[in-house]
Amino acid sequence: MNQSMSLTTKEILEWHIDIGVDECIDDTPANKLNSVPTSMADVLEASKKQQTKPIAHTDKIAQAYQSPAAPKQEDGFIPLGTAEAAQDALRAAAACETLQDLEKAIRAFEGCPLKRTAKSTVFQDGDPSARIMVIGECPGVDEDNTGTPFSGQAGLLLDKMFAAIGYDRASEDSAKALYLTNLVYWRPPGNRVPTDSEIEICRPFALRHIEIINPEVLVIMGGVTAKSILKTGHGITRLRGKWTEFKTDAIDKPVKTLPMLHPEFLLKSPDRKKYAWQDLQLLRDSL
Ligand code: URA
Repeated sequence: MNQSMSLTTKEILEWHIDIGVDECIDDTPANKLNSVPTSMADVLEASKKQQTKPIAHTDKIAQAYQSPAAPKQEDGFIPLGTAEAAQDALRAAAACETLQDLEKAIRAFEGCPLKRTAKSTVFQDGDPSARIMVIGECPGVDEDNTGTPFSGQAGLLLDKMFAAIGYDRASEDSAKALYLTNLVYWRPPGNRVPTDSEIEICRPFALRHIEIINPEVLVIMGGVTAKSILKTGHGITRLRGKWTEFKTDAIDKPVKTLPMLHPEFLLKSPDRKKYAWQDLQLLRDSL
């Protein structure tokens, strides 16, 4: 049966937000389907034409997801395969001795396609000498706009959670401060979860970050981050509230590590805040 469907403007806007179109990136709409290249010759032709006009944001998204064999783009960006990009990240991260080195290396790194669509490289906040290092998943829209991890609603909740046990990212007293970062440094378009490939590429930087900070306690927020940092197949419901250890060859003493429910999840499931409170008390009592 042929059923005609009419949607209100509000419904159309909500549908756009649901599929991740949450920002206006150009003044006029462009039908990219009219110009989808079908062969490598088309890609080369399109790339030649692009050299005379500035790259629109949507073109950058397409470029970022091209295959590893795609030609060099006008601004020098060559998308790499995951293994190659992760190797590059590993080499770059391993060469870093200090936090400043690491920040410079991450900002210079072009191997993660997310960098092409994000506004900011979101690196860290808080006190690098803090006893507690918190590692989240990836920036959202607020973090992308501010360049600061956990600066949106989830960040507000995170701040309240840690304030309840006497810790504050802005504290001038290192004993009461926090150090915050993420596993992935660039916002995935539409606030989607980062793909396994994006995580694999960013992981060497995250591991080196933990090694350089070498905190007394590492708090891992959420299942995606715990899975990657701890190389575990267990879900966060099983991992949360149980002490584990983070250890690499570069650190002498394993770092005490506590996986917790992500504040973003707690905003959607406030009935689980009781578990977060149990975990925060565990953390407080261990310090
Ligand atoms: N969620 C995260 O995991 N990190 C942020 O910085 C913000 C939201």
